[in-house]
Amino acid sequence: MSGLLQKHLSIWFGAPERFGSLIGGELRPGGGESVEVIDPATAKPLFDYPDCGDGGARDALEAAERGRVAWQSVTASARGRVLWRMGELVRQRAESLAVLEAIVAGKPIRDTRAEVLKVAEMFDYYAGWADKLHGEVIPVPTSHLNYTRREALGVVAQITPWNAPIFTAGWQLAPALAAGNAVVLKPSELTPVTSVCLGLLLHEAGLPSGAVNVLAGLGRTAGQALVSDPRVAKTVFVGSPATGRAIAETAARNLRPCLLELGGKSANIVFPDADLARAAKGAQAACFAAAGQSCTAGSRLLVHRSVAEPLLDLIAGGAKRLQVGAPLDEATEVGPINNARQFARILEMVEAGRSAGAQVLAGGSKPEGAGEGYFYAPTVLGEVTSEMAVAREEIFGPVLSCLLFDEEEEALALANDSPFDLAGAVWTADVGRAHRVAAAVRAGSFWINGYRTLSVMSPFGGMQGSGYGRSSGYEGLLEYTQPKSVWVETDAKAPQPFGYADD
Ligand code: NAD
Repeated sequence: MSGLLQKHLSIWFGAPERFGSLIGGELRPGGGESVEVIDPATAKPLFDYPDCGDGGARDALEAAERGRVAWQSVTASARGRVLWRMGELVRQRAESLAVLEAIVAGKPIRDTRAEVLKVAEMFDYYAGWADKLHGEVIPVPTSHLNYTRREALGVVAQITPWNAPIFTAGWQLAPALAAGNAVVLKPSELTPVTSVCLGLLLHEAGLPSGAVNVLAGLGRTAGQALVSDPRVAKTVFVGSPATGRAIAETAARNLRPCLLELGGKSANIVFPDADLARAAKGAQAACFAAAGQSCTAGSRLLVHRSVAEPLLDLIAGGAKRLQVGAPLDEATEVGPINNARQFARILEMVEAGRSAGAQVLAGGSKPEGAGEGYFYAPTVLGEVTSEMAVAREEIFGPVLSCLLFDEEEEALALANDSPFDLAGAVWTADVGRAHRVAAAVRAGSFWINGYRTLSVMSPFGGMQGSGYGRSSGYEGLLEYTQPKSVWVETDAKAPQPFGYADD
């Protein structure tokens, strides 16, 4: 283990070997099989920890039930104050969180610093909502006062992926807690560290023990046990479509709802009247940020034939200049792929593209001198057609598939010819066209002359293969509540329903 990792694990856990699940406010080492965390930059082991297993999930649910009672017994304003303090604590410990995230998830430190600040913003934002979440009075046509209460669901399960561990944890913890729920969070077994840190910080901010529990464990043991337990009121899952489907099937057996944030294959459409230099930079950011391991990646570039040559030259040139390197190097723009399986998938997909006739305009291999780490050069594939796997499947790596179109209608048909509906963008100087395209493309988020900007204030989510439900914003908060309709009879002489005669 590197001295830096050892230092930061010791800051949070006392000693690296004390790392484990956070259950009922206490750190608990697991008792199951050893889980090895691999350094994406070197492909060598960083550290290992025992899986918390099914038992960890069960204990966490028990603790969460107690935590829920305590959390719901404080006022909504007091809950807001805890979340507010949490935002401050995240800012105070931002550098250590960013370093841990960079080492374990293999993300460039410049990105993890920004993500940690976004997490602080999430707690700020939902802190403000905690005491503004209220029902309505409905003018029913009887003598009743009818009002609704926005009630917490109870204990919710949250399961998050390896590509944005601290971001997705903060994203879901903040609204769930603001609405008064208790949470059992299971981050990816590959990147569990910063999620446990957030759990510790929440307790430091004043959260009652057990209102948040974080499991350091495997999907097939701890994750599965969590999702199949009827004590879970709702499961919020961020991850791959295959696992999302399995989780929704399991939850359905208990008649429990899910919110699924899954993958994408988002279309980034460039018309000939666009500012091509800005569109090229935007296309690079859309596809190569986070080494393409981003659900919103604009991994399908749809470009008008008349500007294809200059635009693809700009993008391919830019891709070759991007700084691929070690996560902790301040100059790194593109870090390694997170894990061996994902790395193998990227190699396989690019090979499939080549054999189907796609032309490699940049990248297409591991960069020279990259060593054993899972580095992959930002790659631009030209001459892609819509039936190729590289145009249809999520690659989840720095690979941009470029398709051509001649007419607006054709661009829209190509954009919507996808099993995913997560995001998209259009680049054009024509205001009418910009709004027409924004309305016609199936996507939960859409940018006009931009890409990637997200805010906790605005709803986010997909449809079909990209999942269902919304995170962020007011809609994200409502996902963690249910309305209760309360009927108060205001007329003592009002006839009783069902026609019972008075005594
Ligand atoms: P994954 O589906 O392999 O794993 C996600 C989580 O599910 C992990 O915590 C894992 O341990 C857990 N898990 C696995 N099997 C389980 C089971 N049977 N029961 C319960 N839990 C189980 O996903 P991944 O490979 O970690 O992440 C990459 C995927 O996530 C990509 O497809 C990406 O697009 C998607 N993603 C989506 C969003 C979004 O908001 N739409 C955000 C980030 C990532």
